[in-house]
Amino acid sequence: MAPNGTNTAAPAASGDHMLTGAVTIQVNVFIFGLIGLIILFRLPGLIGFLRSNSGRPFLQTFGRNPPTPGNGGMTSNPVSAVSSLDLDYSQKTEKKIVVHDVHRPSYPGSQCPPHVPSTPKLLDPLLKLLHARVVPGYSALQIAILMNYTYILLYGAFRTSNPFTDNTRSAWLSVSQLPLIFALAQKSSILGTLLGYGYETLNYVHRYAGRLSILAGNIHSIYYIYKWTNAGTFIANISRPENAWGLVLLLAMDLLYVFSTEFWRRKAYNVFFWTHTIGVIVLFPAACLHRPALQPYAFACVGLYGLDRLLRVFKSSIATAKVTALPEMDMACLEIPTIKSGWRAGQHVRLRILSGRMGLFGWTETHPFTIASAAGANDGLVLLCKRAGDWTGRLVDLSKELDSKVEGQGRLKVWIEGPFGGPSRMVFASFSAAVLIVGGSGITFGLSTVEELLAKDHNNQSRLKYIELVWVVPNPGSMSPLVPLFTSLIQQSESTVLKISVYYTRALTERVPVFEKVNATPCTPVAIVHPNLTLSPGRPNFKSILNKAVDSALGVSTVTGKDAFWVSGLAVGICGPLSLGEQVVKSVGDIDSATRYRVGGVEVHEETFGW
Ligand SMILES: Cc1cc2nc3c(=O)[nH]c(=O)nc-3n(C[C@H](O)[C@H](O)[C@H](O)COP(=O)(O)OP(=O)(O)OC[C@H]3O[C@@H](n4cnc5c(N)ncnc54)[C@H](O)[C@@H]3O)c2cc1C
Repeated sequence: MAPNGTNTAAPAASGDHMLTGAVTIQVNVFIFGLIGLIILFRLPGLIGFLRSNSGRPFLQTFGRNPPTPGNGGMTSNPVSAVSSLDLDYSQKTEKKIVVHDVHRPSYPGSQCPPHVPSTPKLLDPLLKLLHARVVPGYSALQIAILMNYTYILLYGAFRTSNPFTDNTRSAWLSVSQLPLIFALAQKSSILGTLLGYGYETLNYVHRYAGRLSILAGNIHSIYYIYKWTNAGTFIANISRPENAWGLVLLLAMDLLYVFSTEFWRRKAYNVFFWTHTIGVIVLFPAACLHRPALQPYAFACVGLYGLDRLLRVFKSSIATAKVTALPEMDMACLEIPTIKSGWRAGQHVRLRILSGRMGLFGWTETHPFTIASAAGANDGLVLLCKRAGDWTGRLVDLSKELDSKVEGQGRLKVWIEGPFGGPSRMVFASFSAAVLIVGGSGITFGLSTVEELLAKDHNNQSRLKYIELVWVVPNPGSMSPLVPLFTSLIQQSESTVLKISVYYTRALTERVPVFEKVNATPCTPVAIVHPNLTLSPGRPNFKSILNKAVDSALGVSTVTGKDAFWVSGLAVGICGPLSLGEQVVKSVGDIDSATRYRVGGVEVHEETFGW
């Protein structure tokens, strides 16, 4: 754009221009230098992860684990679980929680995954500080990352310049951040792979960097709008093609910002999605036509965007899903038996239903769902989709309709893209104990993780001696369809003790079958079917749950000698509402440093159903 009030964008004095170019490069060198340092710091984790043989980036039609007594009968589909188990609710199998009577070798040759802590033991107290929540949803570490990013951009803005008088610096800073913003938005993120984080975990940096870039673009534009309006030459200047494209670029950026706020993402996800898509498509040509010098940045973004799309095509499959309704949970269960492996527990796929029965434009929508089964399980890939809004509501209704009309299960053609995200480099099987705390539909994360860990336990590929799955639900009735599956999982646990504790938070207003069978009162935890499967009213006491897991992990160290199975930490997995995550993270933070040290560190993986 023009630096004066009367004509087109005259080039800034060449000295200034070169300085702006140099500062922009410095800014990116700082940013990518920091990213490089983080990648280096996390390198041991990558090596440990690769040695654990956990990664499978593409969905496959063949099973990874051959059927064995341990996983051959395993099923994550509540419907299959019901039919495959002859349940006697009065039966109570006695299985004491003993965690130090079984040991497995950790000497070379053992198949147990190596345990590589995410942070050296000495830095563990620092980790505790960095993970403390400062504002809802953000840890001190996340805030520190955003603040450092801000400082680097402020350096770029003020280094021998003033954003209110220097009209080009803010523009260059704005555009120079676009490749980073695009790299952070990729679903098959290469940057994320190098860093060891899924795109959904990095999304907060994408949003923040995007906003700063748009702010800088607006500062640049306001300068000219003010100047030309004051001089009465706005129309004359904006009619020039390069300036008109500058205005289009500004509008595209502002469109991206306005409709990506939390309000739109929560209330009208489709509005957010389509404005983002249109905004991004307009952005590239507008930038190139505004100033040809911006082309390298625009082409870098197009390259990243195209690569992501290409990788996503390779990660896509079209399959037929068996659909069943789970009315007690207001969910639809989709089972895709032809997709057998290629994911890790906790990863999600993006689901598109290729059917006109999902509404006129239903097939155009893609929604993320965490895979509820472990790779290699009998049912293949299982998704549990809870009614949350229009699209999921239509799916749940359709599942009920198919259930009532079709003999057996209904079938739908689906487009599955993934897997994405998940616990990245955190290998749960390399810890001594694991606690999985999930709320509502977060049970999908809990189920797949437990199932995968039990299969690894069976194949002697796990160090875990104790797993507790804690599920918080509003209503105990939600538990009924999963009781057979829970029981089956507990019965399949071999050298690892599996405990499943369900908590319901609403007062009982109706009769619940689970209670009837065990003849219990809703005042104290009751064991259902098995002593390791309990149902309790109220909210869980996370502190005591974590303490028990720590004690169980420490119990492992009682074995000595060549076969010593060293304590390798406590893994905590969380999936559920933000408030649940905050409470658990706080309780983890309350574990004192000495205990953390003794147990070999406590690491948390948090999964949220949104961004
Ligand atoms: C990584 C991840 C894993 C998930 N796993 C599960 C699961 O296993 N089981 C389950 O029942 N639900 C899961 N969800 C939530 C599920 O994706 C949403 O409930 C569903 O997309 C809602 O769509 P809707 O049109 O019915 O509701 P809407 O009313 O449109 O939206 C309800 C909420 O879902 C969000 N949402 C809507 N569409 C999308 C989308 N395409 N991408 C991301 N968020 C969206 C909205 O922001 C809003 O907060 C997961 C979400 C994420 C991000």
